[in-house]
Amino acid sequence: MGTVYLVGAGPGDPGLLTQRGLSLLRRADCVVYDSLAGPLLLAETKPGCELIHAGKRAGRHAMEQDAINRLLAEKGRQDACVVRLKGGDSFVFGRGGEEGLYLREQGVPFEVVPGVTSAIAGPARAGIPVTHRGMARGFRVMTAHDSGGLANLDFDSLAHTTDTLVFLMGLGLLGEIASRLIGAGMDPQTPAAVIENATLPQQRTVRAALADLGRCAREAHVRAPALIVVGRTVSLADRLAPPAPRGLAGARILLPCVGELPSRLGERLRARGAAVEELAVCRVEEKTGAVRREAVGAADAVAFTSRRAVQLFFGALFGLGLDARALAGRRIAAVGPGTQEALRAFGLLADCVPPVHTGEALGALLRETLPRGARVLFPRAAGASGALRQALAGWAQVEDPVLYETVPCLSAEAAAATLDGRSFDAAVFTSGSAVRALLGVWKLPEGCRTLAIGPKTAARLEACGVACAESPHADLEGILEKLEEWFHA
Ligand code: SAH
Repeated sequence: MGTVYLVGAGPGDPGLLTQRGLSLLRRADCVVYDSLAGPLLLAETKPGCELIHAGKRAGRHAMEQDAINRLLAEKGRQDACVVRLKGGDSFVFGRGGEEGLYLREQGVPFEVVPGVTSAIAGPARAGIPVTHRGMARGFRVMTAHDSGGLANLDFDSLAHTTDTLVFLMGLGLLGEIASRLIGAGMDPQTPAAVIENATLPQQRTVRAALADLGRCAREAHVRAPALIVVGRTVSLADRLAPPAPRGLAGARILLPCVGELPSRLGERLRARGAAVEELAVCRVEEKTGAVRREAVGAADAVAFTSRRAVQLFFGALFGLGLDARALAGRRIAAVGPGTQEALRAFGLLADCVPPVHTGEALGALLRETLPRGARVLFPRAAGASGALRQALAGWAQVEDPVLYETVPCLSAEAAAATLDGRSFDAAVFTSGSAVRALLGVWKLPEGCRTLAIGPKTAARLEACGVACAESPHADLEGILEKLEEWFHA
């Protein structure tokens, strides 16, 4: 019989995991983790540690709570050290209490390792103390998403307290929370904030008077995980918030995109203060039926060179009645951090990621690590360069079903209507398709610097007669780094 440790992983920043949590994580034979428990922490586990994704993110429950309880008890009986890793603190809306009760009932030993809760650390990192002399004598942490929803909250009492109010899991109900508070008598001008991705590099705070918070958060496209803070102490953020990394303040950036808006890069650029013009230049056409069950079964490795390929591949897998288990024992290769992250969302950690994020480097890495004659499944975009194939030529057999095609969707008229006469400091291209789709119908204005995400995109720009700089590494971080070098005040 082992012990199950209910470990709070902290709010996101890996540095906010406790020492006890970290040492248990390093010792663990099995880790059962949630989506909010930072993937970076999983890298701390020892080789051979079993990693089980128990899901849980609003609307996406990978496993039912009962099943998780049973799993913990079963693992606790088998393994010496089982870590149940959860975002924040396990006893703050983490259902840690239920897990503990079940384990006690089953006679499986457990220990609670408290974590830093997002309810306090999130506001703190945004410069909002939950208590402050003369302003707030206490704070209340609530969820807007309980069995009874908002009906169970006592808005009369909430509207008349000086306590700071913190709402977790409330983003979808933000407007309603604000109007219920105001309806119950709270001053509509009460300072309030929504904090997205608190303590992570992409943390963002939207502050507004209570009455305007819902609209402001919507306009800023705030997404989960996010928490809501209401109360006088929010105004202290003026003086307590860390200086925002607004390294791109004022830079006007043109961003042609493939697929839906806003893009991740667009959001990151805005968070740094850039004025971003995002333009959908290609739409994504999905191809169905390209992935063969036999090819999945026979593969020794599966390689991905885009986030979208990961997502569509899993769609195809589910369509075949298979799931992530069909990839058990196969080497999973990802071209870079974005692809890696997309894989993690499906419960998979990539086995190999090349230091340089190109198809060529990924192919070379697979060639080094796979035996001759191995079979590589490479689900990809139409026209994705043959670089990976080439790197593996004469070594491995590659099957590369086409999952999607990017089809230009910007007309010359639409481009002219949105872009003519405007000036941009830089245009950023994240794919060859974006280059072709935009430059096929519109000419970049004078004085606009051009940045390409990687060598392929750069080559495509040069073929169009546009001189460009290349990101130091082929990912979003590389692009941000280069732009900050150009525009940082
Ligand atoms: N046990 C966790 C809370 C789990 S409920 C804790 O103690 O922090 C999940 C909710 O927590 C999310 O819907 C969101 O409201 C909040 N949350 C968790 N991590 C967050 C983060 N990094 N930034 C903003 N909100 C976060």
